[in-house]
Amino acid sequence: MSWLNYLIRGYKDVLNIFYPRFCISCEHVLHPNEDFICHQCASKLIRTNYGLDAENPIYDRLSAIIPIKSASALFLFDKQGVVQQLIHQLKYHGAQEVGQLMANYVINFYDDNSFRSQFDYIIPVPLHPEKQKQRGYNQLTLFGKNLGNYYSIQYTENILLRHQNTSSQTMKSAGQRRRNVAEAFSVAYPEFYSKKRFLLVDDVLTTGATLEACIESLLKAVPDAQVSVLTMAVVL
Ligand SMILES: [Zn+2]
Repeated sequence: MSWLNYLIRGYKDVLNIFYPRFCISCEHVLHPNEDFICHQCASKLIRTNYGLDAENPIYDRLSAIIPIKSASALFLFDKQGVVQQLIHQLKYHGAQEVGQLMANYVINFYDDNSFRSQFDYIIPVPLHPEKQKQRGYNQLTLFGKNLGNYYSIQYTENILLRHQNTSSQTMKSAGQRRRNVAEAFSVAYPEFYSKKRFLLVDDVLTTGATLEACIESLLKAVPDAQVSVLTMAVVL
């Protein structure tokens, strides 16, 4: 270890005493060499090991309904598990740094070539402006931005837009709900995005209805676009 490493290590140790950081999941104090979550919680995360290629259950599920290039998810969503905890903190308790943590996992787990020069834009599933105002942020911003920075792909929230608030539709039938969701999205200036390759990111893939609606809107507006999907977690 060089003297510089010693110095950094010492600095981190001192910082830890005065400004302890806590695990986002279990809230125990983090060691200087841990970021966002402790090693114990991290070890409980269940990876899907799905690459961004055609051969995985998420691709099979989505591509049966709508044309996509590829699809993947980082972790399996287990009820009451660490992933559930992290995403709950991200969406409802202001823990935006979970987005950065998840981006770090993508960077560590996936082959760089499945991103570099494969996409022109990274875009999030948009939040209704009202909801974003309530929450104060889109929970996908840090995830998308960090991926964009690392892979040199433009991250933007200005292409796919959301209009209707689809949160209060529990009384509607499944068919109505689907239509309602599909009508909620639109593409700004579609003429600029001919033949562009999009990576659409989301937090949890459950039924896939929202993602399908996003993809449908994108492809309706830009028929020769290519869409891939990456989520932090998937409910299988
Ligand atoms: Zn922990």
